[in-house]
Amino acid sequence: MSAYIGRFAPSPTGPLHSGSMVAALASWLDAQANQGQWIIRIEDLDKERCIRGVDQLILKQLSDCYLTSPYPVQWQSQKLNGYERAFNALQIHNDIYPCRCTRAQILSRLQERHNQSERNQEKIYPGTCRSLPIDESVNKDTPGVAWRFKSRAGQITWIDRRLGVQHQNVVAQVGDFILKRADLVWAYQLSVVVDDANSKVTHIVRGADLVDNTARQIQLQQALGYPLPQYLHTKLMLGENGEKLSKQNGATPANTEHPLECLNQAAKLLGLHAQSSSVQDALQFWIREWSDLYCQN
Ligand code: GLU
Repeated sequence: MSAYIGRFAPSPTGPLHSGSMVAALASWLDAQANQGQWIIRIEDLDKERCIRGVDQLILKQLSDCYLTSPYPVQWQSQKLNGYERAFNALQIHNDIYPCRCTRAQILSRLQERHNQSERNQEKIYPGTCRSLPIDESVNKDTPGVAWRFKSRAGQITWIDRRLGVQHQNVVAQVGDFILKRADLVWAYQLSVVVDDANSKVTHIVRGADLVDNTARQIQLQQALGYPLPQYLHTKLMLGENGEKLSKQNGATPANTEHPLECLNQAAKLLGLHAQSSSVQDALQFWIREWSDLYCQN
């Protein structure tokens, strides 16, 4: 088997809740079922949203559940050079451009065009700044200037290991997307792609709320000449109101003082059978079940 490397990449904006436990368990099981490596990466670039100390809390929740890794934990805030290198490579190839549009300007431009289509409540960027002449005085550290990737024409097609064939036309459905934000924070799309490539991640297992980002990430992988990982997006744990659980809508932290309860809840959502044994035995059982369900090679 070729070297399998997987990862779990929580943002320390709040402790893990029962929805994020699903992604943690699924990515851990997939790595074990493939005799692979599993890396934990803390996605802490957005200082405004991250809460001090929550990274350690997340690591404690994972270790309470025996979802551990012998490899060093990574923090994105310690890897800024990698994003800059990728940014420079994209700039040299004329794949990015600076953008000063505010939300209000984007909206009024779309209104003028009578085209306000949106995806997941995000407006499709109308490309306003794409053809402006290059302003040499602007660089990646210029406050108030975002940098966008020139989305490439055509449909991106990829196969999700659970959902099957997926398509997205990034130009039509997303538009040119941000790699560096106007507040100078590296955007998720760039950082995730760079880190996965630098860690040689071969398999990405994460929640279905992120499925919509995959085509953008594939476009970036192609532009940067990175190998394309395989993807599996798990079912989402929904709250009582039918909405996905998230730290933003106040999902309660997973109580990992009762690790088997937390894991059983996550396992059931993944189509695995609840266990009443020790946590370690339950995990060993689920590795076999997971392998039968998702790893038929
Ligand atoms: N940090 C992201 C989150 O917590 C996950 C990123 C990923 O798995 O690609 O939602």
